[in-house]
Amino acid sequence: MKSLKRMMTLMLPALLFLTGCTASPAIAPENSLIPTEKIGGSSLYVKKVENLPEDFILGMDISSVLAEENSGVKYYDFDGAEQDIFRTLAENGVNTIRVRVWNDPFDENGNGFGGGNCDIDAATEIGKRATAVGMQLLVDFHYSDFWADPGKQMVPRAWAGMDVEAKSKALYQYTKDCLKKLRAAGVVVGMVQIGNETNGVFCGESSWSNLSSLFSAGGKAVREVYPKALVALHFANPETADRYDGYAKQLDQYQVDYDVFASSYYPYWHGTLDNLAASLSRVSETYGKKVMVMETSYAYTPYDSDFSGNTIGEGGGVIKDYPFTVQGQANHVRNVIDTVANKTKNGIGVVYWEGAWITVGQTSWEENSKLWEQYGSGWASSYASVYDPKDAGKYYGGSAVDNQAMFDANGRPLESLRVWNLVRYGNAVEPKPDAIEDVTLLVDLNGTIVLPEIVSAVMTDDSKQSIPVQWNVTEADLDRMYRGGVQTYDVQGSAAGLEAHCYVNMVEFNFLENYSFETGEESPWRVTDRGHADQLYVEKKVTDSLTGEYHYHFWSAANNSVDFSLEQEVAGLPAGTYKFAVSIMGGDAGDAEVYAYALVDGVEVGRAPMGINGYNAWDTGRVNGITVAAGQTVTVGISVKCSGAGNGAWGKIDDALLNSVG
Ligand code: CA
Repeated sequence: MKSLKRMMTLMLPALLFLTGCTASPAIAPENSLIPTEKIGGSSLYVKKVENLPEDFILGMDISSVLAEENSGVKYYDFDGAEQDIFRTLAENGVNTIRVRVWNDPFDENGNGFGGGNCDIDAATEIGKRATAVGMQLLVDFHYSDFWADPGKQMVPRAWAGMDVEAKSKALYQYTKDCLKKLRAAGVVVGMVQIGNETNGVFCGESSWSNLSSLFSAGGKAVREVYPKALVALHFANPETADRYDGYAKQLDQYQVDYDVFASSYYPYWHGTLDNLAASLSRVSETYGKKVMVMETSYAYTPYDSDFSGNTIGEGGGVIKDYPFTVQGQANHVRNVIDTVANKTKNGIGVVYWEGAWITVGQTSWEENSKLWEQYGSGWASSYASVYDPKDAGKYYGGSAVDNQAMFDANGRPLESLRVWNLVRYGNAVEPKPDAIEDVTLLVDLNGTIVLPEIVSAVMTDDSKQSIPVQWNVTEADLDRMYRGGVQTYDVQGSAAGLEAHCYVNMVEFNFLENYSFETGEESPWRVTDRGHADQLYVEKKVTDSLTGEYHYHFWSAANNSVDFSLEQEVAGLPAGTYKFAVSIMGGDAGDAEVYAYALVDGVEVGRAPMGINGYNAWDTGRVNGITVAAGQTVTVGISVKCSGAGNGAWGKIDDALLNSVG
């Protein structure tokens, strides 16, 4: 695809904004198409979210939708008929539409900057269509001429050079004028956001005194035009400790009048759901605010469909809570809703970000680019360079989130769209395999490739199950891998009709035997159990192994009875220098003392401290510079001693490597 630089840059738009939703009645008048009972017949597994309030905000941001439609995109219903997307969303349980508003996203010749060219006129059109089917509008004012997010809070061109007093007046007047337009058009506005992801910077200002002045000016306008609407402020990065506590305290000190403290939550970057709930709950409990998730999304496929790189896609390094499948996307949405509704104090809603921003064409980047330029349906057009030359002006293009939409590349709704309705009732269909977890094998050049017969399937209910696998590999393929030196092979296979991958890492000559415990036996490892632990053995469990199917397991009910070492003696090594590495993960270990070590003829020559840092948080200890003369015997191993009176220490040890470095 595109360069990494481009990918990184494209991540920014997705981090952008937020908005608010509804004030009083969330389920709107007689024209509402929002279902009040379960829609049957779906194969989607959905666990019911208990105690979900009737007026809980189930929102979707589709700010790019008019530009998409102008570019020729058509949206369909579940029966395959073309249908107004607002109707489709309402029919499936979405009760709020969020829309971003930029002051003036056009150049002097009227060419749009892109990202939907979302000015107040576009927002009004979107608001009218939402109102027509019974949904409320959540207005997301960026107070910028283009994208605002934690990395970018540029002042609108018309307000450049103003001091904060003048800027506050301008912001107040602009907000009031915009909201009056919406009101005149009969748009039902439930919530208004003053700023988007305003992490300590907003509209070109960066002191809390100035930020507060601007927030207050915007909130005042909302109270005057839409007195029933909630006033929201929106921030990002809940994963940073105490960030939200600090922001909320500043807002309190400056007496900013607002109702909702909202957060973005992109699971790849923003920490755990438990942490999100704790961060928002502290704000709610301390300052009496409502809280919500203003933006979230999840990939239903790793693949791009519009020839413009995505923020999340193929490749490693991404934190994946669920497979990138339609069901995985639905599980994410369901669990965010459950977290905000049931685990967060005063949680009032969840909004999905840009669920309809799909490709505008199937042919090529060049063809799509013409539409993005003309109608503003990409994240930025080249015209944006007059305002944002360093980012948009350089990296303009299409949708960075087409694989996170809830419609496929042809505008057909994904089964996951039904989650907004089904969370209220549950849909307990029989769980079935949804994706196969990758397997990694470590094989040294003198080893044997033994592909696993069993792989771990992620089920539609997000549980895991071991199932048989068939690998598409011949003896000749294996021979080639043995001869190919140090490199990684992607062996493909099939399990329950789903694609499986076994990544075979051929590594340099390892002088240890049974280094990844794949024989299933302890030998030739030697265990010295000083503390008499309850469990010490080689265990077969793919999901808990660093590579392969086996690892060395330890557990004891009493922490301080975990005290052992696991070592292997190697005689007859060629004279030279060697390095040793071994890995561990585990938990509940108290003040653990863990280290890798090496002895030469019984004398310790190196020791590397290690940590027990949590499930699948593997830590590797490395002892380098082990000098061995001819005839000497090397012993390498790991010593584990846990202390404290906790729940009982446990852990896994895997992949011991003793390599020559010359
Ligand atoms: Ca894309």
